[in-house]
Amino acid sequence: MTDASTLPDSLAFTKALIDAESITPARGAVFDVLEAALKPLGFAIDRFTVGEAPDGPVENLLATRGSGAPHFAFAGHLDVVPPGKGWTTDPFRAEQRGALLYGRGAVDMKGAVAAFVAALARALPDHGTVSLIITGDEEGPAVYGTRALIDRMRERGIAPDFCLIGEPTSVNRLGDTIKIGRRGSVNIWITVPGHQGHVAYPHLADNPIPKLVRALADIDAIVLDEGTDWFQASNIEVTDLEVGNTAHNVIPGAAQARLSIRFNDLHRGTELVERIERAVHVHTPDAEVKGIVSGESFLTEPGRLSDILSDAIEDHAGIRPELSTSGGTSDGRFLHALCPVVEFGLLNATMHKLDEAVAVADLAMLTDIYESVLKRAFTR
Ligand SMILES: [Zn+2]
Repeated sequence: MTDASTLPDSLAFTKALIDAESITPARGAVFDVLEAALKPLGFAIDRFTVGEAPDGPVENLLATRGSGAPHFAFAGHLDVVPPGKGWTTDPFRAEQRGALLYGRGAVDMKGAVAAFVAALARALPDHGTVSLIITGDEEGPAVYGTRALIDRMRERGIAPDFCLIGEPTSVNRLGDTIKIGRRGSVNIWITVPGHQGHVAYPHLADNPIPKLVRALADIDAIVLDEGTDWFQASNIEVTDLEVGNTAHNVIPGAAQARLSIRFNDLHRGTELVERIERAVHVHTPDAEVKGIVSGESFLTEPGRLSDILSDAIEDHAGIRPELSTSGGTSDGRFLHALCPVVEFGLLNATMHKLDEAVAVADLAMLTDIYESVLKRAFTR
């Protein structure tokens, strides 16, 4: 294995991180590799493990260096999704073939963590504070991950001015896209009770299906908004409809449906659940409507942080990135509570797939871009 205690090089360091298998929830060896690289750079390391099976235990690492303003934080995760079957080579043995480095986590997001550490080694600021906020549970339920790190930071009075998340945001080429926000997400379960009975005696039964269908038709017709300057329109999808009735001659006793709503910053998840509940109750007042908000939306208005990042990208990639809010949720939904957050990292084409791979040239360029970000953020 690569010795990461010497000055980290982003390629060798990415390999060392990939070789430390870390299926979510992660702890142990992969954090040892990161700690060994950060210590010689003068970081104070705070590693702590929280939670119990099945969602834990999860290891988290908070590294800080320096004091005072500005305080720049980099956030990321060292856990990876399970590899799945069918890899060409061992997903937990980094292998370079031609221009690509293969291994689980190459782009999501061990490569970005390695690039940031390598950039730090080249551009350690002589004033202000740098933090790394690294979790072992971003890919899982994220119960004991970044949320626990934020609690820890609050306890310790650690408050960054900016946070860069190294998620793979690039689409067709490195630097084409950064995320300045994310939509929120809420899942909703609807259960309409009825009264079971024989179809030949409908007056002795109460069929829940027509009520649920009418409610869903109303819900499907809702236009939540037309989008905003930075967000596409919010969207309600009916994702499941279930009665489970196998008999021809039975009116079922209950009917259920499930919805998923991705919403922009004009809405809050809890308000959407209430709105759906009202729509359902028009047709069936005794229906149960239950919602779980997996993340509220957030937006970091374009400003200093997105400018620094866009300029750094232009320096090295020769393009200015699109400022996007598309895609699924990220740990930005939690970190946004601390400070302005933007996300920028490698190409996302192979993330979570078989034969996940990063272009070696992209790793080098990402390191250059992160170095330039650090220099710009700490310019007096
Ligand atoms: Zn990720």
